[in-house]
Amino acid sequence: MVVKQRPETSGPVANVLATALSQFDAAAERLGLSEGMRSVLRNCKRELSVNFPVQMRDGSLRVFTGYRVQHNLARGPAKGGLRYSLHVSLDEVRALAMWMTWKSAVVNLPFGGAKGGVIVDPKSLNATELEKLTRRYATEISIIIGPDEDIPAPDMGTNEQVMAWIMDTISMHRGHTTAGVVTGKPVAVGGTLGRSEATGRGIQYIVEEVARANGINLQGATVAIQGFGKVGATAAKLLSAAGLKVVAVSDAGTGLHNASGLDIESLMPYREDRMPLSESKAGDLLSNDELLALPVDFLLPAALENQLNGENAGDVRAKYVVEGANGPTTPEADAILKERNVNVVPDILANAGGVVVSYFEWVQDLQFYFWDEIEVNEKLHKVMTQAYAAVAATAAEHKITMREAAMVLAVGRVVEAARLRGIYP
Ligand code: NAD
Repeated sequence: MVVKQRPETSGPVANVLATALSQFDAAAERLGLSEGMRSVLRNCKRELSVNFPVQMRDGSLRVFTGYRVQHNLARGPAKGGLRYSLHVSLDEVRALAMWMTWKSAVVNLPFGGAKGGVIVDPKSLNATELEKLTRRYATEISIIIGPDEDIPAPDMGTNEQVMAWIMDTISMHRGHTTAGVVTGKPVAVGGTLGRSEATGRGIQYIVEEVARANGINLQGATVAIQGFGKVGATAAKLLSAAGLKVVAVSDAGTGLHNASGLDIESLMPYREDRMPLSESKAGDLLSNDELLALPVDFLLPAALENQLNGENAGDVRAKYVVEGANGPTTPEADAILKERNVNVVPDILANAGGVVVSYFEWVQDLQFYFWDEIEVNEKLHKVMTQAYAAVAATAAEHKITMREAAMVLAVGRVVEAARLRGIYP
């Protein structure tokens, strides 16, 4: 009997785990996996919950809750980001850890999947509180992270400064610099050139591959991007520099639209919520719902989960959806988009540039030998285009969507590793 990992809570957060499990179930069915193997992969191997105190600026003591979840380690050490957000929940972290397993596998990295998070609004803390919270959380999860075990990286609400504090905390515990314990660090403390832009650059390479495969002229092709953070703003900058017309971008507050193309360079001071986009005069205001329904060549949801769902997928008029965020499309939306011939390049492929360059950073840290940015970007291009080609070929061969193909490839690789290690039938 399959032991089913079920979402614990109701509402949008629970949906993320339901989405991840539903995508896995479909791949398991296609691959004809045994009930036992399905149980192994539906569940996360390790789940650490921590409650830890932080003394706040007014002298009071606050207890924060955090998680670190490792989904599967068959292909190597666990790898995955760290999220600071009020919406973090154990179910969300489980889903994101599961997607990391598939993401590393689809781009053929020797990693398993993990994710972490702390329930906190990072903007409500000052720098001292953020550092204290980070160091205490790092100490709590130090029992399961390390260069050989599990390597966190930035995600929503965290950045390279947070990674530097984690690296320093673990290094203090171990008595020597342990650069390989996290990726996405500043270059001055063992980070790699090219990492801060890697996810957006990977998206650019994928957009170029989609265009090449489908005869789309990139010069003047239109793009709408939801989310103007590390992923969305970088993708906007690189795609605009490559000649595409970014007609709309948004943050949590509002969207900006300009049919002639937004001047993305002028919007860079607004990235990562440094200023609200609503204060910019670069375009007309539009809602996030309106942005998702714009008639563009490429729609990039690059903010958060569940943005394309059963209620609004019928309104999507983009030709291609390239998923910058993790889990932006629910299974209901997937079915509607498939029916309407809107092609979706799935998150586990489209936004994998970040973990690919994180892998490069980890390799460089282990060797204490650093590459120049051209080398990093060339290697990233090779990995992304090879993965795109493998997914596209699988999709064409089996007449399935890119998401279904990516999942079949990824789950198949994880299962192969598990079997070769002699663990499972
Ligand atoms: P970020 O915190 O830097 O930026 C998030 C952006 O989304 C901000 O502009 C914010 O205002 C916006 N946003 C938040 N809520 C919104 C809403 N309801 N509607 C519209 N916009 C909203 O985060 P990020 O690192 O850019 O991550 C974005 C997504 O990409 C997440 O799903 C993350 O897991 C995924 N991702 C990130 C990386 C990475 O390297 N940072 C890699 C792969 C995937």
